[in-house]
Amino acid sequence: MLALLHSRGIATDGKHRFPGWINIRCPFCGDRSNHLGWNINGQYWTCYRCGGKHIDAVLAELFAVSEREAWLISRQYALRPSAGEPEAEPAVVRPSAVIVPGADLLKAHRDYLDARGYDADRLAYWQLQGTDHRAAGTNKFRIVCPVYYDGEVVSWQGRDITGKSALRWKSCPQELERRPVKHCLGGLEKINGDTIVIVEGFTDAWRLGVGSCCTFGTNYLMQQIQLMIPFKRKFVVLDSEEKDPNAKKQAEKLCNILSVFPGETVIVELDEGDPGSMKQDDADSLMRSFGFKR
Ligand SMILES: [Zn+2]
Repeated sequence: MLALLHSRGIATDGKHRFPGWINIRCPFCGDRSNHLGWNINGQYWTCYRCGGKHIDAVLAELFAVSEREAWLISRQYALRPSAGEPEAEPAVVRPSAVIVPGADLLKAHRDYLDARGYDADRLAYWQLQGTDHRAAGTNKFRIVCPVYYDGEVVSWQGRDITGKSALRWKSCPQELERRPVKHCLGGLEKINGDTIVIVEGFTDAWRLGVGSCCTFGTNYLMQQIQLMIPFKRKFVVLDSEEKDPNAKKQAEKLCNILSVFPGETVIVELDEGDPGSMKQDDADSLMRSFGFKR
C-alpha cells in the first residue's frame, strides 16, 4: 500500500501516524489532517472521523479513477481487499477432545442464576454444567459453558458462583482446548439466520439468547471479526459507558471495521449496565426489535 500510494504521489508522512497504520488525509470528510488509516495487518481502510471504507472506493477517490480501475491498479500491488489472513498460530499440540468440567446444575448454581433473573431451564440449550467442591483447583463452584467452533466443543468458560474467587471467569487451560476462545464467538453455533448480535460475555449472551454471541471481553481479534462478516445484519450491544468507559470506543472501532463489509452494522447503546443485567422482558423486546422471535 505504501508503494502504491507513493507511486501516485500521495504523502504518507505527517501528523497522526500510528504503529501498524499508514495514515493519509481523508478525501471523504473534509479532513485537514491524516485521519484515514490503512491497517497493515487487517488490510482495511478506516477514517477516525467518518468510518470504514472499502479499499476500491478509497483508491478510486484518491486517484480520481473508477472503482473498477482502482481495483485493477491495486491488483498490481498484491493488495487483498479482505479482513486479512489470521495471524499464524503458534504450534500447540491440541487435544483430540475437550472435557467440559462439571455435571448437571445443582441447587447452588440454579440459585445463583435465579438471583440474577435467569431461568435455568430456559438456558438449557447452552448446556451449562455446574462444578462443586470436587472439581480441581480454581474450577470449583462454577457454572461452566462450552465454547463451540465448527460443530464441536473446542473450549469452555466457567463463571464463579461464590463471589469469592479472584477469577470471576475461568477459561479452559490453553493446552486442553482445541481452539483459543478468542478465536471463537460464544453462541455462534446457535444462530441460523442472517442476523448476529455481538455482546461482550457469556452472561450477556445468556440474557439475549439465540442470535447473540460473545467476544469474551471488550477487545476482539481479527479471527472473531471474520466470523461476524458473513452476517447481513450486525448489531453491536456492548456494555454501557457507565459500566465500562472503554466499551463505546471499542464498539465504534468494531463497527468501523465491520461497516467496510456488505450488510448493515448498528451500534446499540445501553443507558446503564450491560445486556446481562437487563430484565428478561426488556432483553426479549430488544431481540424482537432486531427481528428475532421471543
Ligand atoms: Zn474521513
